[in-house]
Amino acid sequence: MDTFHRSKLPDVGTTIFTVMSRRARELGALNLGQGFPDYEIDPRLTELVAAAMTQGHNQYAPMEGLMSLRERIAHKLASSYGLTVDPDSQVTVTVGATEAIYSAIQAVVGPGDEVIAFDPAYDSYEPAVRLAGGRCIRLRLMPPGFRYDWDEVRAAINDRTRLVLFNTPHNPACTAATTEDFNALAEAIRGRDILVLSDEVYEHVLYDGRRHASALMQPELAEKSFTVFSFGKTLHSTGLRVGYCIAPAVLTRELRKVHQFNTFSIAHALQHAIAAYMTEKPDAWRALPAFFQAKRDRVRAALEASGFRLPPAQGTFFQLLDFSEFFPPDDVGFAERLLTEAGVATIPLSPFYARPPALSVVRLCIAKRDATLDEAVFRINGFATRLR
Ligand code: PMP
Ligand code: GLN
Repeated sequence: MDTFHRSKLPDVGTTIFTVMSRRARELGALNLGQGFPDYEIDPRLTELVAAAMTQGHNQYAPMEGLMSLRERIAHKLASSYGLTVDPDSQVTVTVGATEAIYSAIQAVVGPGDEVIAFDPAYDSYEPAVRLAGGRCIRLRLMPPGFRYDWDEVRAAINDRTRLVLFNTPHNPACTAATTEDFNALAEAIRGRDILVLSDEVYEHVLYDGRRHASALMQPELAEKSFTVFSFGKTLHSTGLRVGYCIAPAVLTRELRKVHQFNTFSIAHALQHAIAAYMTEKPDAWRALPAFFQAKRDRVRAALEASGFRLPPAQGTFFQLLDFSEFFPPDDVGFAERLLTEAGVATIPLSPFYARPPALSVVRLCIAKRDATLDEAVFRINGFATRLR
């Protein structure tokens, strides 16, 4: 028997991120697929982690998160967005954003509930909704603009709707929501018993002077949202697996009921180290937009004459590559050929759609050393010449 007939997620395989990283390793390809940096983290953070362990922070941390870290998080929200959040009742430290998303969904979604998600939707959303007994209603955002159709959202809302899953800056569309989008969302759910989960892990990876619009800055939404962030992105260290969720006290209490039985508490030494790092370098994240914009621009400039089109990237670790000049609208097929024939792993977008349209874009991760990006672009340019 090679399938378990009582699987709760019979149609779910291994994620496209894990598959592409594994295949890149097997084939010795450059991995511009899964979104993680290939350069070193700040050595000071490494020292602080080692120091925290040496100092003996090796037993359970508080369930909600270390208070000194929650205070630094509140301080950061104040200095970046002018927000006031109470570290005691509104901040919960989680295993990356992934756990915050999962625990929040388990906390508020139940059998018969509907949850609205926008495709291309980050792949962990729908399985979490289904494991909670709910049903995801997937509305499509279409390239090239991936704009929201708020009439469609209003039409999808009904008495079963419990939660809206929102993501900005958006992975994998590379777009950033505006204040108007958040106002439209607030208006669409006004007066109804509907909550929001706003996934804002790329809050600081925004280009061309854009400012992040957050659910926390929309007064109505701040009252009914779980807003999710990740130190994986902000500290260039996806392997630390530390994230956090900001929510009003009443929602935070529900979140923690799940969190305490799901992961309970987060690596103690890591929380100490991150709190110390944020005290020493409270403005480290301010360097992120320029750092990543230089990488985006490097990739865009080097591919300019390739014949591939480069849709605008407003934020995230990613740049889309549009291959419609050379290849049929089959993103999985294109990603496969780019991997096997040019040695560059990317991520197709169709796995993020419940009903994938014909797609002519794949996602490139730009959070890589310049040498990695230069070599990848060289290979992609060579591939374009061969396809012509
Ligand atoms: N949401 C989005 C949109 C992401 O891109 C990611 C990871 N790249 C996550 C959530 C999960 O973040 P973490 O690695 O902190 O669990
Ligand atoms: N969020 C990462 C990405 O978009 C992948 C994380 C994962 O593999 N779960 O590439």
